[in-house]
Amino acid sequence: MADYEKLEIAPPKTRDIMADKQDEPRPPARARRNGMRIAFRELRFWYMFLGLIMVLYQIANFVDRPLLFLFLREPDFKGQCAQPEPLFPGQNEELDRLVDIIEGDAFRNASVDRLSGAVQVKTESFDDLGEVGQDPRWEVFFNFHKYLEKTFPLIYERLLVEKINTHGLLYTWKGSDDSLKPTLLMAHQDTVPVPSETIGSWTHPPWSGAYDGKYVWGRGAADCKNSLIALLETLQLLLEANFQPKRTILLSFGFDEEVSGRRGAATLSAFIQDRYGKNGVAVIVDEGAGFEETWGTLFAKPGTAEKGYVDVKITVRMPGGHSSIPSDHTSIGVLSELIVKIESEQYPTRLVEENPYYSQLQCGAGYSESFPKKLKKLLADSAFAKSIMSPMCHNRSNNNNKPDRLALEAAKQGPAIKYLMQTSQAVDVISGGIKTNALPERATVTVNHRINIGETTKIVTDRLTSISDEIAKKYNLTLQAFDGSQEKANSIHLSSTVNRLEVAPITPADGSTNSPFTTLAGTVRAVYGKNVIVTPGIMTGNTDTRYYWDLTRHIFRFAPGYDADDEVGLGKIHTVDERVSVLNHIHTVRWFVTFVRNMDEARFDTDTVAGRGAGKCGSSRDRAECGA
Ligand SMILES: [Zn+2]
Repeated sequence: MADYEKLEIAPPKTRDIMADKQDEPRPPARARRNGMRIAFRELRFWYMFLGLIMVLYQIANFVDRPLLFLFLREPDFKGQCAQPEPLFPGQNEELDRLVDIIEGDAFRNASVDRLSGAVQVKTESFDDLGEVGQDPRWEVFFNFHKYLEKTFPLIYERLLVEKINTHGLLYTWKGSDDSLKPTLLMAHQDTVPVPSETIGSWTHPPWSGAYDGKYVWGRGAADCKNSLIALLETLQLLLEANFQPKRTILLSFGFDEEVSGRRGAATLSAFIQDRYGKNGVAVIVDEGAGFEETWGTLFAKPGTAEKGYVDVKITVRMPGGHSSIPSDHTSIGVLSELIVKIESEQYPTRLVEENPYYSQLQCGAGYSESFPKKLKKLLADSAFAKSIMSPMCHNRSNNNNKPDRLALEAAKQGPAIKYLMQTSQAVDVISGGIKTNALPERATVTVNHRINIGETTKIVTDRLTSISDEIAKKYNLTLQAFDGSQEKANSIHLSSTVNRLEVAPITPADGSTNSPFTTLAGTVRAVYGKNVIVTPGIMTGNTDTRYYWDLTRHIFRFAPGYDADDEVGLGKIHTVDERVSVLNHIHTVRWFVTFVRNMDEARFDTDTVAGRGAGKCGSSRDRAECGA
């Protein structure tokens, strides 16, 4: 019996060795039969196990999910998109009455007049503007300043108003507590021009500021004289209600945002940084993204990231000559081949975790009933991959070349979504040749790129260098790539323009921590209710904040006005029939009044004494001057 017991518990290999031992007596036949039966039972177990794996594999295939993730529980999407409770400022009878005032008819009518008046002052900016003080076209801003001074007398009486580089406006309402970093709110005074040939297509003339009972019409009505006027209305209301801020409030209005902000925002931010130091302000809110209804949910999407930017100019130089004896390829032909090669491949669609769109997907998966199932599954897989693999291996990283299934699936929603996760390339400007009987000595193209989050402008310049190198070798041309050199004969010359810009630093946006994002999101939910889900958003264009990165990590590009019945939204900016819903505007004012009060009460870890905060407006001696 002892021998049989040993057989039963011994592993198969040991059993074989035992059987092979010649010198030991063979066990009786019954024991041999028993041994075979056990071996067969074990074999059957392994077959069943394999079969089960195959069935699971088939199921995994059927539901399109890695086998490993089949039994893992769905991640806590809601937790990943924590929503702060609605945040109301502490009770104050006089200040609380502002809500009723803002929503009342008298304020609405006055507000329409103020906004309409602002639209009527033409403040176009042009790409070819000369320096301030030299080009007379800047002088329109003097008219605009006069208009603001006339419209907001209390602000000009009580607060410090400084003009930076002649037309930049900086308003300072000094807070009583110097240890708190200021709240900085931004807008720009300039608008894009109205091409004269489109004037006839406007329903109401572009500088009429016409009001039709719902919208104020005109160039700049939605981009962004509405925010500018709303910000001044906010301070005016707070002054009237005897608000006494602890935290300094700054308004900063550039005047050339639409032509890169070099003269306006750049000089304003340098001035502010000189006064308050690096990281010297608590939060910045500038124009930007607003609200969007997706998957049956209303999202507020303050922009917490901006794509990068680079324009690349490519010039092909080849010998000229008479067209009757041409070379096989002219500079235009070679440049065309280059363009075809550039367009033959797109940049990859990739969604890194830092990309705010990833957060929006998590928010959608957590809160939206009609969030697409396939996206949810891929999102869950991505979260599992992150939890079990090293950060370098899982597919949210930019370091591998595997197709990003989540990004590709999300991109099916359309190009507007795709380009939240992909570097774009657009061949926009071309020129070459001067005469039909002369071979073109020079042909030039400009390609515009918006850089995906997680990537750099160098990825673009490297790729274009490699493509151009191939073509240069083929046609025996010299390659001059991004080396700052002058164009030579027989060459392909590449350069990037001055407005090259890397992806903006990402603003922290975790709704479960105490941060400016939480204050902003709580304010949204206080004004619009808990049905609104606040998710970080991404800007494909750039605002004046590109010059403000050193002032704070907490930059939001956000249009806080919402009107459910507004079918236009930001859809008409930069084009014919630009207009803004007055209800949207009223809500913008209400939001800013609440936000300024909430910021005044909020305290953050980052609220140490601001850099050189004791500058001109820091000491009590200057307080009267800065508005106290
Ligand atoms: Zn704008």
